[in-house]
Amino acid sequence: MNASALSPVHRAYAERNLPRYTSYPTALAFDTAQAEAGAAWFGRTRAEDKLSVYVHVPFCRRLCWYCGCHTTVAHDHQRVDAFVEVLSREVDLVAARLGEHDGLAHLHFGGGSPNALRPAQFSALVERIKGAFRVRPGAEIAAELDPGLLSKAFIDAAGEAGVTRVSLGVQTFDPAVQALVNRIQPHDQVARAVEQLRDVGVGGLNFDLMYGLPGQTPENVHASARLAALMRPDRIAVFGYAHVPWMKKHQVMIRQADLADTDGRWAQAEAADAALVEAGYMRIGLDHYALPSDSLSLAAAEGRLRRNFQGYTDDPAPVLVPIGPSSIGQFREGFVQNHAPTDQWAAKVNQGALPLNKALAIDAEDRTRAALIERLMCDMVVDVAAVCRDLGTTDQIVAESLAATDDLIAAGLCSREGTVIRIPEPARRLMRVVAARFDNRLPQTATRHAKAV
Ligand code: SF4
Repeated sequence: MNASALSPVHRAYAERNLPRYTSYPTALAFDTAQAEAGAAWFGRTRAEDKLSVYVHVPFCRRLCWYCGCHTTVAHDHQRVDAFVEVLSREVDLVAARLGEHDGLAHLHFGGGSPNALRPAQFSALVERIKGAFRVRPGAEIAAELDPGLLSKAFIDAAGEAGVTRVSLGVQTFDPAVQALVNRIQPHDQVARAVEQLRDVGVGGLNFDLMYGLPGQTPENVHASARLAALMRPDRIAVFGYAHVPWMKKHQVMIRQADLADTDGRWAQAEAADAALVEAGYMRIGLDHYALPSDSLSLAAAEGRLRRNFQGYTDDPAPVLVPIGPSSIGQFREGFVQNHAPTDQWAAKVNQGALPLNKALAIDAEDRTRAALIERLMCDMVVDVAAVCRDLGTTDQIVAESLAATDDLIAAGLCSREGTVIRIPEPARRLMRVVAARFDNRLPQTATRHAKAV
């Protein structure tokens, strides 16, 4: 293991609170006053639009102490059954409200844990969505699943429903770390899930790993990444734990004393990187890795990589349709978000209304800044003037953005040649610091984001 240390200058940047830029503007800018306007955007989709649909399942069978997701533990199945009924109603409601489109190209189940549903419920839901949005041949159907509680019956249901990609929350293989975060899942259990998923024809496999969890060290992060790579998932994401117990109450179960400082977190992230690159994975954007043959690696090589609420993707769909509590959608006009509390979301759906709580209309300047940030987060290089020219925005953004990078150039976080900004490989993990210089809404939201590393 050969990890490079964090320099004092870079440490100061690594400790800044910054968005993950899975969208620009970020969700913190969404506004309840715009929800009604957002509802009208559903009807303005175009005949050529391929749809991406995101379904949020806000239930889990256990609560991991590090969790930052919108979820609750479903102790009784009646709650889940009632939820699935409302969700099915919402599918029909949303499908009826959409304008013309060219069918469903990408369906993603996230959560929570979609495998908190019964296998038959999951299959029925997939069928209903495929019918309601007219699934296209070859569509990607993806689900995030908790491998610790994944039954063979659910895996069979996923195979029969035509699921093409599964993301398994692996996080760490270290038993001591698993105990500290209330997520016991032995290596054999994950290996069995992988084998069974492949047996039923799920062709795409993603793993999520973490660093910065209590009890993690560069050594045990390296060992977990090596074990993960041995199973040859197509993609591996490595996320840093964000300790925000004032926002996520259950995180008080994690002792601050068990957490590494910034230098320790950096060393852990470097250790995961070393293990994955050594195992033949390509670096993708900020925190993803993919086998060279995977479509994400090909998209990255060809400049087609995209970043959306699910992270890095090669999905070019212009319309993201939200289903389920807290789900975020995207239209040409802007972003929408559903009510997060399940009772409020259900009440709206039961009234026959779209369950939107917030929306944000975007203008030409937002689109330009979003494109600049997305290219930096995906390609680590952007020609600021070319993006502004393509999107018909002003030279003022070019001048402002270029001037805003002066200190970063001095610190080695990026270089500038004419109007081209480039992030060098050693600064990859700090790319959010560079991207943030193109964000003119950051001052209002800075303290609500996690640290850059
Ligand atoms: S399984 Fe995932 S969503 Fe559920 S509590 Fe654990 S980390 Fe959170």
